[in-house]
Amino acid sequence: MSENPRNLHDFDVDVAVIGAGAAGLMTAIHAARAGHASATIQSSVHADTDSARTNTGFNQAPALRVVALDGAPRIGIKILVAGGGRCNVTHHAVREQDYAGSTPAAIRRVLTRFTVADCISFFKDLGVELKQEDTGKLFPTTDDAHTVLNALLQAARDSGVDIRWPMRVQTITPLPNGGFEVAGAWGQLRARTVALCSGGKSLPKSGSDGLGLELARSLGHTVTQHVIPSLVPLVADAHHWVRTLSGLTLEAEVRVVSGTGKHITSFTNSMLFTHFGLSGPAVLDISRHLMMERTRDPDASLQLCFLFHLKQNAKSSCSLDDADAWLLEAKAQTVLSRLREKLPERLAKTLLESAGIASDRTAKQIDRDRRRSLAQLLCGAPVEIVGDRGFTHAEVTAGGVPLVELNLSTMESRKCPGLFLAGEVLDVDGRIGGFNFQWAWASGFVAGVSMATSLIS
Ligand SMILES: Cc1cc2nc3c(=O)[nH]c(=O)nc-3n(C[C@H](O)[C@H](O)[C@H](O)COP(=O)(O)OP(=O)(O)OC[C@H]3O[C@@H](n4cnc5c(N)ncnc54)[C@H](O)[C@@H]3O)c2cc1C
Repeated sequence: MSENPRNLHDFDVDVAVIGAGAAGLMTAIHAARAGHASATIQSSVHADTDSARTNTGFNQAPALRVVALDGAPRIGIKILVAGGGRCNVTHHAVREQDYAGSTPAAIRRVLTRFTVADCISFFKDLGVELKQEDTGKLFPTTDDAHTVLNALLQAARDSGVDIRWPMRVQTITPLPNGGFEVAGAWGQLRARTVALCSGGKSLPKSGSDGLGLELARSLGHTVTQHVIPSLVPLVADAHHWVRTLSGLTLEAEVRVVSGTGKHITSFTNSMLFTHFGLSGPAVLDISRHLMMERTRDPDASLQLCFLFHLKQNAKSSCSLDDADAWLLEAKAQTVLSRLREKLPERLAKTLLESAGIASDRTAKQIDRDRRRSLAQLLCGAPVEIVGDRGFTHAEVTAGGVPLVELNLSTMESRKCPGLFLAGEVLDVDGRIGGFNFQWAWASGFVAGVSMATSLIS
């Protein structure tokens, strides 16, 4: 934990939070709240001490001066667009395995400090009831993301946080005797501690355009070698048959396979064919795994399995032999009618055409090589992915500041005392389902409470 900077009066604020998104608002609220709580305890011990530290409740002058600065012209855009405007606040079961980036053990250390139960009760106290859907995702009962954003903004105001925007921060400079100067085109302010909650690079129009990563670098941090879009639709080769099926959704296993044919990872969920390639939850979930794998292995590729229900257990995949046997089981049935048992007709016809098989044939009437090539399309259709749709269409950023550079009990930087980090600026990205917000809430909670503790203890 950092030394408390010199004279309180040298500073305009105690806590400057850079970025008022999910992580920044959470950090600011908890820094201010913990500041009140600590001040209350201290005031009962030292009843005659500085009156500025004796506030007992919210809606009063804060014990700590907390400001949240955001560069965007509108606050909380990402919260408002989340979950199709309904804001998928969290998931009923959040585990470190639902994330990628830094190590699972490091991610777990932060997640366990602010659990799903804590999240539900935090929002309940703000008047936001959450409901769980069949998928395990939790949304506000209003089905309206404004409920979530308004509650967070109100909680920030109630605890005395001063939220200012648009105030883009261009530099953060450590001062010789502790504390920071935070500056932008609007001027500068001096802060005893700084929380960098500037997000990653996804949806740049929301204000998260990667400048925060540069700020982290300027303060001595590294950023992972690769910072790429995550939860992003994938672009297929212009001539691939997937593009002809635009608008079709179905359940499939989407798989990443190494250049040598090794299974890397897979997701089974709904997916969508589009005019440019592939989208939908299973594809979004796998996107960062394919693109990150390609940074190591340019030949890594994507396969679709439409007969995932044939696999023996959760860890295995449907093999070519399994798919071929399934085709042959149909006996007198035409191959099109067999495919229609598991696949939408449009997809069934496209696969038959791609394998060069007439739809009125039975499996036994097809020569072995053609039948096996159809079986291959059913259990592992290769899709040549030529890229992704970029940060503009990505929900999250894969890569960022590695957790190993932070003290995870406090989220304080190991490189720059007095600097705390939370949210998507860090090298942690979750799958679809509320995991990314849960990371923002948990890391923001730890950072906020720790900042207050470091200043008041
Ligand atoms: C379309 C979409 C839908 C999503 N849906 C969900 C969902 O339903 N559930 C879920 O869990 N996750 C969802 N996510 C992901 C989730 O929104 C993010 O992971 C989360 O918002 C990250 O929070 P953050 O506060 O770390 O970063 P951000 O939300 O990106 O906030 C960072 C803030 O910092 C500000 N900022 C950046 N640089 C500066 C600077 N230099 N100076 C001042 N301010 C700065 C930005 O303006 C921004 O307001 C979705 C994302 C998108 C794009």
